[in-house]
Amino acid sequence: MRAEDIPPALRGAFERWRNFCAQPLRDRFWGKVKIGSPDECWPYQGAPSPRGYMQFAVNGRQWRAHRIAWILERGHIPDGHFVCHKCDNPPCCNPNHLFTGTVQDNHADMMAKGRHPKGAAWKRSNLTDAIVLEIRKRYHPGKTTYEMLAREFGVSNVDVGLIVRGKIWKHLPVEERKPRVRPKGEQIGRAVLTEAIVKEIKRRLANGEKQSSIARIMLLNKHTVGHVARRRCWKHVQIIPTV
Ligand SMILES: [Zn+2]
Repeated sequence: MRAEDIPPALRGAFERWRNFCAQPLRDRFWGKVKIGSPDECWPYQGAPSPRGYMQFAVNGRQWRAHRIAWILERGHIPDGHFVCHKCDNPPCCNPNHLFTGTVQDNHADMMAKGRHPKGAAWKRSNLTDAIVLEIRKRYHPGKTTYEMLAREFGVSNVDVGLIVRGKIWKHLPVEERKPRVRPKGEQIGRAVLTEAIVKEIKRRLANGEKQSSIARIMLLNKHTVGHVARRRCWKHVQIIPTV
């Protein structure tokens, strides 16, 4: 796009945007950070995302600002590692205040500093053994949903799922659930065929009769015959082929 194509009123903004994009990534990033002394927090000055993270766009993808700070100044982030704050100040991009670690490292750091979220901020901690057992008892597929229980017990849907499946609170027993039996054949509410009719269809198919003629003779819809022929339904009904 050329500058002449831009409406005059927008040319100033376009120029600023073009100059901004032309800057090397490092300048563009550090231009948005309020850099102080080596010991101070260096807050990122951009607008936070709806979830409260400071974000910086690189090639159209949003990155957490402090991760960019780490990559620019320290280089590589090991696989599966997070960039964490020693200073507990999420907007801070001072590389001296950052470290990389696993989820466990971050958790250990949080616990050491007494930063572990409590109460309403950490809904799982509201749970007790009794509530977890109650959620497991109350969940019945088809009757209760994760959403219903989540609302009732003030936890997230995901947590209800994890509780019900025994992925968290593993020290407590999980309700045994019988596998759901899928109805077959005549057990299906709107089944139009009976096992006897299906056997007759299969016998005629095995004899090489055409689906359309079977449908005509047996007063059936040709699609119904087709379904049986393609084994979409009534798979469990077997016939002994006549030779
Ligand atoms: Zn800091």
